[in-house]
Amino acid sequence: MRFRPALLRKFYQHWNGQDLGHVQRLRERRMLLVGSAATLLLGVAWGIYFTVLGMWPLVAMDLLLICGGLGGSLLTWHNRDRPAAIVLFSTLFIVICVIAVSFDVPTVQAPRTTHLYLLPLSVAALMAFRTSGVWLRHGIALAGLVAFVILSASYGSMPSQYALPESVRATGAWVQTGASLSIFYAMLYLMQNDAISRSVLENDLRQAVAQDQFMLYFQPQLDAKGGVIGAEALIRWQHPERGLVMPGQFIEQAEQTGLILPIGHWVLEAACAQLRMWSNDSQLCQLRLAVNISQLQFRQVNFVPQVLGMIERYGIKASLLELEITESMLAQDLPDIIAKMTTLRASGVTFSLDDFGTGYSSLNYLKRLPLNQLKIDQSFVRDVLTDPNDASIARTVVTLGHGLGLSVIAEGVETLEQREFLLQSGCEYFQGYLFSRPVPSDDFTQFVKQRPSADAVFRFSADVATLPASTKLH
Ligand code: C2E
Ligand code: MG
Ligand code: MG
Repeated sequence: MRFRPALLRKFYQHWNGQDLGHVQRLRERRMLLVGSAATLLLGVAWGIYFTVLGMWPLVAMDLLLICGGLGGSLLTWHNRDRPAAIVLFSTLFIVICVIAVSFDVPTVQAPRTTHLYLLPLSVAALMAFRTSGVWLRHGIALAGLVAFVILSASYGSMPSQYALPESVRATGAWVQTGASLSIFYAMLYLMQNDAISRSVLENDLRQAVAQDQFMLYFQPQLDAKGGVIGAEALIRWQHPERGLVMPGQFIEQAEQTGLILPIGHWVLEAACAQLRMWSNDSQLCQLRLAVNISQLQFRQVNFVPQVLGMIERYGIKASLLELEITESMLAQDLPDIIAKMTTLRASGVTFSLDDFGTGYSSLNYLKRLPLNQLKIDQSFVRDVLTDPNDASIARTVVTLGHGLGLSVIAEGVETLEQREFLLQSGCEYFQGYLFSRPVPSDDFTQFVKQRPSADAVFRFSADVATLPASTKLH
């Protein structure tokens, strides 16, 4: 493992976010972190300057900037991206408007220019709240534009003893106009780039569906004795020019464009075909296969007959097919989800709740869902030995799962120590790089077949070097 000091590692994790699976969210998160930090630094720098000059109303503005920047940074750090964006944009909006009205008094020699920053702010708000509800999506951007129009078209200002001298403001007008329009241009460029890369990706994805460019990788899932009990099927895209593309780079786009429906259908077919192949081999025929199901896919009216039809067509045991759903799916139309799950459960299909702990599922939801398993999210497993909060979350998930009669699996297990901690906490199943990365079907078969008997694997497990080559930590 690469050496990284603890603080740097922590920052690296927050920069990358909890959920590596969503490129768009990552990009927004980074913009938020940088924006909040810049606001904070700006507030501190100007705050010191105006304190020295004794210009207290301006110091008050800087304090507001510091609070907004600090609030935005902390909220982003704690994965509250939406509230962080609201705090940051509101702060900047208020500060720009107050400065424009109170301190940037327009005259014949020096026009008002501070309000020009409202233009890039509005474009940034449109980008930051793209996936929010209509009020947030357009509200902040429109408020920015309305304020811009009012401040451009009127000379109205509050009388202020702190208005800067005209000579300074005349030069400042050039600087402010240049700076704000440069930021505006950069924002438009980012927006255009984003739109282009989205449409290229969408076209490529359509071609990928038509030309069958996807493949499944398999990551083993093991029990407490080290025996392989099954695998999670993880999609990969064999792009003709870009090579192997990871799901984090296209699943979200596929969801937004609806292409996840044919892709998800392909994954289910391929998983059933794999189970069919395993059923002919005595060493593989008991393995279960977990498949990730996206929200749109699950909400299709014909989802249940689709799955049952495949199980029948491939002649596989329904109990070996496990569907992984996520907490975010539970936010909408819970009765429909429960009805579909109940029908599939009655036929033997099992359910696992993926990324557990990262969403907002209430205990009430959990009690009502016909689940078989909870999956502790890898973000908790990652720091289970160093962060007492993550350790207690992991332990709580195990207790909760068992209390509800569910089994518990931990994903993202990378070290023997993490496995040991989770085992001591009562977790019974494990998945992670410690055992194997996701691998193509043939490598997975080889992994299962070359594996020593379950007990032997961890008898000498104090030393990772004793594990078979494919199980070593990468
Ligand atoms: P997930 O379902 O939570 O899958 C686990 C992800 O964690 C996989 O990333 C896996 O490679 C990675 N992982 C496993 N063990 C470790 C470990 O020890 N350390 C670290 N750092 N990572 C580990 P992958 O394959 O890139 O998939 C990312 C996400 O994409 C999945 O998260 C899932 O949400 C989505 N996805 C993958 N395949 C499909 C699919 O067929 N359909 C749908 N709808 N989503 C899929
Ligand atoms: Mg999963
Ligand atoms: Mg997961």
